[in-house]
Amino acid sequence: MLATGRCILKYVKGIGPQRAQLLSSELGLETAFDLLRHYPVSYIDRSAVRSLRSLHDAVAADVAMVQVKGRFISFNVIGEGAKMRLTGLFSDGSATMEVVWFKGCRAVRNRLRAGEEYILFGKPGKFNGTLQMVHPEVDAPDSVAAAETVRAVYPLTEKLRRHNITSRTIHTIILQFLSSLRMPLRDTMPPSTVAACHLMDLDTAIRIIHNPSGPDALAKARFRLKFEELFYIQVDMLRRSRKRKAATQGYIMPRIGKWFNDFYSLCLPFELTEAQKRVIKEIRADIAGGRQMNRLVQGDVGSGKTLVALMAMLLALDNGYQACLMAPTEILAGQHYETIRSIVAKIGLNVRLLTGSTKAKDRRLIDDELRDGSLHILVGTHAVLEDRVEFHRLGLAVIDEQHRFGVAQRARLWSKSAVPPHVLVMTATPIPRTLAMTVYGDLDVSVIDELPPGRKPVATVLRYDDQRVKVRDAVRRQLDQGHQVYIVYPLVKENEKLDLRSVEEGFADAEVAYAPYKVALVHGQLKPAVKDEQMERFASGEASVLVATTVIEVGVNVPNATTMIIENAERFGLSQLHQLRGRVGRGADRSYCVLMSKHQISSDTRKRLEIMTSTTDGFVIAEADMQMRGPGDIEGTAQSGLPFDLKIADIARDGQIIQLARKAAEALLDADPDIVAPENATFAAALAGTLQRTVDWSRIS
Ligand code: ADP
Ligand code: MG
Repeated sequence: MLATGRCILKYVKGIGPQRAQLLSSELGLETAFDLLRHYPVSYIDRSAVRSLRSLHDAVAADVAMVQVKGRFISFNVIGEGAKMRLTGLFSDGSATMEVVWFKGCRAVRNRLRAGEEYILFGKPGKFNGTLQMVHPEVDAPDSVAAAETVRAVYPLTEKLRRHNITSRTIHTIILQFLSSLRMPLRDTMPPSTVAACHLMDLDTAIRIIHNPSGPDALAKARFRLKFEELFYIQVDMLRRSRKRKAATQGYIMPRIGKWFNDFYSLCLPFELTEAQKRVIKEIRADIAGGRQMNRLVQGDVGSGKTLVALMAMLLALDNGYQACLMAPTEILAGQHYETIRSIVAKIGLNVRLLTGSTKAKDRRLIDDELRDGSLHILVGTHAVLEDRVEFHRLGLAVIDEQHRFGVAQRARLWSKSAVPPHVLVMTATPIPRTLAMTVYGDLDVSVIDELPPGRKPVATVLRYDDQRVKVRDAVRRQLDQGHQVYIVYPLVKENEKLDLRSVEEGFADAEVAYAPYKVALVHGQLKPAVKDEQMERFASGEASVLVATTVIEVGVNVPNATTMIIENAERFGLSQLHQLRGRVGRGADRSYCVLMSKHQISSDTRKRLEIMTSTTDGFVIAEADMQMRGPGDIEGTAQSGLPFDLKIADIARDGQIIQLARKAAEALLDADPDIVAPENATFAAALAGTLQRTVDWSRIS
């Protein structure tokens, strides 16, 4: 029993009820298994001793843990009882430092002698300008601990530290527990996978991760443990998606008929790109096959996703079904509606728009036509999801800009149809492939990785505050040529008031600077009606300049707008900048994007912004963004979140391992689809245990 680590923590030697309680509430550790999986965050080279003098810089740089060697000059006890505090003045000849204990003062005082040499291990800080270390580990220079070469450092909380549970406490408990085991830990990976992928066995990996014998072994151990985490995710996703595909029947849409063909010969204003053709083929294969389609189409802004969606909807019509297209905002829904209506004008398709502001009379008409089947395509906002919206035969639902729709809303689509409709999700936020594999592992993914020909990339430059006059001149030249300009300000929640002021000032500023051209203003604090009216002024060309916060990020289409100025660009994420920039460069004219920034920016920030000036490839940008900010912040994923709490793997950095884990998961499920083979029993139990602790997030539509 021990060897699977299911032992409750308080029975583990060195823990006891009180510590078990703390480890549970602070770190979520319940069993010995959890403890073994509480991996170090880093390792300290114990042979490196810092001088106290050098610690002043270390404090400034917020260095985690250091080791110093010296003597206590004096001790001082202040206060009494619970308020008692022990301080020691510590010196290594280069400088002095104050060492402080709030707990166990008497015991510490009895153990330490002034004038003797000690090695202290802890996090340096400063208090009132004095160098300080609180609750360090203290070793005699000849002790066993001081002889270690590498020391694992564990994640801790302040409360644990105050209760004298240090990184060393955890380290010692884990090593004691490991040495008390009478047999090796049973491996939690399928044996076939361990063999095929040349993984280190679990027992060795766990021992090494806590007590590395050298860099090579540590690397192999880390690989094994990362692989395992990512493998669990992939197995879970794949298993769900295979089950769903097997269990959920979809409408079968084998026919290509009149609508599609007429559209092709009469309406299609240009040749499709190769990427568009490929994605349409992928969609066709899905919907003709009899299983329900759940496909994510990723394509950069302007790559022609709308057209692909439209053609998919025509296929549904050809097979006797209705289709709907949902967009996150009224403006965007309105634009889709106009676009589609104008493209299909020649073939007499019945398309209607349904939003929150659709008039009662029109709603009744839509309701009737939906129910009798004479309405072919319904374009709309969330309003489409309302209960009263009943289709005659909804066969395909297209969702544009996926990340604005919640999972629950998507689920409501299922109730609109006896058999779940095929679902096509379109997103302009490129998600790095490996991330998509993890976050949307349950969806099939198509990528439109090619822009229609003749598109000129938006020329992007980085400019600083002192170049404002020149930027203004350039904007004016664009306006004089009859073009329109966006000026965008960040709006970050914590700074809402300040940001609002800056966008309002920017508006007043622009009115003066660009007179007599008219300026419109849009931000989140405006009433929807006012917002729409301002937007309309810009869309119609009445206003030449639009000063806005990021509300324009999604979908506005004004081809005559050739220039975008982004103020405080350093405050935006790369993916967001990319989305914003996609608003220009939609017409035939050369377009520009100016990233404005303060002069004082860190070199990291400059590097980040320079990615924007060097490429317009959304996937390259998304990848870079993920590398720099971590996957949690990547737009489009925050809402769905990562399926598991990853302890050691890093979605941003471990892309290759994700791909290997994916392949291995496929191989496992091919051989043992329900994971019932006896040799996989330990793995199956471990997988079930991991899943129990996480929410079921994966039913994405
Ligand atoms: P997305 O929704 O991916 O941002 P859209 O579907 O709105 O892109 O297409 C952007 C513009 O490109 C539209 O004006 C559309 O008519 C045009 N377009 C789409 N596909 C092609 C193509 N194959 N060739 C030329 N222009 C195209
Ligand atoms: Mg679009």
